[in-house]
Amino acid sequence: MLSSAHHVAHHAAHHADVVIVGAGVSGLAAAHHLIAAGVTVSVLESADDPGGRMATASADGFRLDRVGQLLNTSYTEPARTPGLEGLVLRPFAPGVLVHGADGRQQRAAALTPARALASGSLDQARLSAALGRLAALPVERLLARPERTALAALGSRGLPPRTVNAVLRPLLAALLRDPALTTSSRVADLALRTFARGRLAVPEGGAAALPDLLAAALPPGTVRTGVRVRSVATNLVTTEEHGDFGCRSVLLATGARAAADLLPGLRVPAFHEVTVIHHATPAPLPWDGSLLLDADPKWPLAHTTVMSAVDPSRAPAGRSLVTTTVHGPPPPARTVASRLARLYDTSTRDWELLAVHHTPEAVPAMPPPYDLRRPVRVLAGLYVCGDHRDSNTVDGALHSARRAATALLRDFGIPLPVRPEPAVPAAA
Ligand SMILES: Cc1cc2nc3c(=O)[nH]c(=O)nc-3n(C[C@H](O)[C@H](O)[C@H](O)COP(=O)(O)OP(=O)(O)OC[C@H]3O[C@@H](n4cnc5c(N)ncnc54)[C@H](O)[C@@H]3O)c2cc1C
Repeated sequence: MLSSAHHVAHHAAHHADVVIVGAGVSGLAAAHHLIAAGVTVSVLESADDPGGRMATASADGFRLDRVGQLLNTSYTEPARTPGLEGLVLRPFAPGVLVHGADGRQQRAAALTPARALASGSLDQARLSAALGRLAALPVERLLARPERTALAALGSRGLPPRTVNAVLRPLLAALLRDPALTTSSRVADLALRTFARGRLAVPEGGAAALPDLLAAALPPGTVRTGVRVRSVATNLVTTEEHGDFGCRSVLLATGARAAADLLPGLRVPAFHEVTVIHHATPAPLPWDGSLLLDADPKWPLAHTTVMSAVDPSRAPAGRSLVTTTVHGPPPPARTVASRLARLYDTSTRDWELLAVHHTPEAVPAMPPPYDLRRPVRVLAGLYVCGDHRDSNTVDGALHSARRAATALLRDFGIPLPVRPEPAVPAAA
């Protein structure tokens, strides 16, 4: 433990070197980095459980994510975060399956250019080649490109308009959770690059598995749930009902809006809205583990999958879990059921609607110009991390936590156990 001689400690009921506000993945990851450096940490979380947005509910043997989480096996941060050694990612089938406005389904981005060509599709070969070029491009080159919206940059990728409209648009919308493609074109390029370098994947057992692993690997008592923070100063954190916490530094690891409430100088970004819908089928639904994108703009769905085919632990034996994502508010249940019947080419009359999770402020928007390394040090003693400081992804949230922990330890004068920056910024 560092010196705790600060006078505030004598008045506060509790003391730690660092108080972290928020036990989402960024707060939990930051706690690991700091504890590894010998610093004492308290993580205060207002909810009853840690995990923040990465929450999973259990119902009748189903595991139901609140978020329609699409992680990627090429995310770099999980491997750099202590506590996540046991993380198991279940990959989707390679590429994506796209249901076009003409009602036909095609697999995209799953083959090498040569194989796509051999299978007779020049468009597919061009798309694979374009993604291959992005995958191989050094990030610095990519970040040196002109920045505009992802939508404005769509036409400049050397792909025929039919591929852009039928594949690239719905793919980017899914990766960025942004149907209007108002996101920075550089962020979009990074997202496509990440997509091309790995496989889309979900945490085995549900999104909550990731924060659960982080929380379980912290020293007992580090995370205190049911504690809402009311105000922060560099050396004192005031809570609603649990008194004051004295400390040497505070790290805000809440979402963007709560961070700005606690620290009014912070900007509140715009957000993207997401609804996740879970259905149970009465009998197993055969599926190859593909992510199915709905590219018909007349319908409100973004993508759907038989989640239990990707991760069998999410449904009881003999039934399937179908998880569908909408970029917006919940559509009428009948609209969703009839569209799913078409997409899966089966009757959905006997499907059971298990849950509809609507998150109006799911992720912060990343319009141009977007800084993927937004400052994490407000002043000596006050730091901020979370997906609003980086890319709005799990990888971005974890990365921001490592940056904030690094800045904090530097101010403490502690040699950094944290490895140097990777060349690759985190993106969707
Ligand atoms: C619907 C949806 C879909 C998504 N899809 C993807 C995806 O496909 N791929 C991807 O990589 N990411 C996706 N994300 C984003 C990803 O889930 C987030 O980026 C990540 O979970 C953010 O973690 P965080 O720690 O920054 O914030 P949070 O998880 O929001 O954690 C903040 C914590 O702070 C707590 N808190 C707030 N105020 C206080 C207070 N005053 N006192 C105490 N505690 C407080 C909150 O309760 C919360 O637990 C999605 C998110 C949503 C909601």
